Amino acid sequence: MDSPALPQIEAWLRYFDDLGLGPFYLDRGAAELPAIEAAPAVKPPAWPATLSPAPPQPPRGQDPALHIVPSLFDATPRIEGDSLARIREDIGDCKRCRLCEARNKIVFGDGSERAELVFVGEGPGHDEDVQGLPFVGRAGKLLNQMIEAMGLRREEVYICNIVKCRPPGNRQPERDEVATCSPFLDRQLAVIQPKAIVCLGNVAAQTLLGTNKSISQFRGQWFDFRGTKLLATYHPAFLLRTPSAKSEVWKDLKKVMAELGLKPPKPKPRAG
Ligand code: URA
Repeated sequence: MDSPALPQIEAWLRYFDDLGLGPFYLDRGAAELPAIEAAPAVKPPAWPATLSPAPPQPPRGQDPALHIVPSLFDATPRIEGDSLARIREDIGDCKRCRLCEARNKIVFGDGSERAELVFVGEGPGHDEDVQGLPFVGRAGKLLNQMIEAMGLRREEVYICNIVKCRPPGNRQPERDEVATCSPFLDRQLAVIQPKAIVCLGNVAAQTLLGTNKSISQFRGQWFDFRGTKLLATYHPAFLLRTPSAKSEVWKDLKKVMAELGLKPPKPKPRAG
């Protein structure tokens, strides 16, 4: 389709995707919808004793049926003495999936290995692909502001994505691409052992929680991810298109701040 309305249509599709009312694809047919839709219900995974002796019960009001498909993160074994440097080395000049074909740089992650808070996005966009760093474009600038509003500096948190290479045309990563890349993210999270994980957007939230529910149904609620508290909120790119959702995201971030014992920074005194 080549129509002057295309950018508007794309914007709407992205908007509905961000709300979890997708996925909609401009570049492929319905036959390729991810198998996650058809997966059978399973029992929640056994939780690794090293990270969490017992799975916390879902908070009252939380939908216990959220774990309705196996998470891609349930089965990866722990690696003794693992480190971010070693994971990056293991990734190498990755050619494990088709995303390598069009990428410029692998976007591994950015921030502190000792971070108490990890943000997980969807996948690199154009600016990230050029620079090799996550969230450095417009959405990244907004994420930086969100981090600072929480009383943190970007260097104090860790930022990464579900996939490490840019999906062509900024399409959503395919399920097999996510499956190929996820063991590395799994290892990153296991090395960092943050106090909290914040999923930015539907793709990150659905992937880590192993659900096909839309983020609008569960954002702002705490879940257990292998012994770490996990909360999903809207993606900063969505906020750029829908500034009215910022107040919802701020509510979510305040929950994270309470969990980490953070206070918002004092407003700077006005000059003069
Ligand atoms: N959007 C993402 O999900 N990740 C990035 O790194 C940049 C934009």
